Amino acid sequence: MNSAATPSACRWCGIPARDHFQQWKPPVGWHKYALPTTEQIKARMRERRRARSPKPPAHAS
Ligand SMILES: [Zn+2]
Repeated sequence: MNSAATPSACRWCGIPARDHFQQWKPPVGWHKYALPTTEQIKARMRERRRARSPKPPAHAS
């Protein structure tokens, strides 16, 4: 699983619309690009931000 998916990528498989065409992905099977839900976009943006930013020091004074 690619956790750093493009926020607006397909809601089923995470592939961006321009690369999508038709994809097979369980449990939906063959499908076309579908716009992700607002919650999915937000979650992906949070995930990307967290993946990019370094961990804060545990015991900063
Ligand atoms: Zn898809």
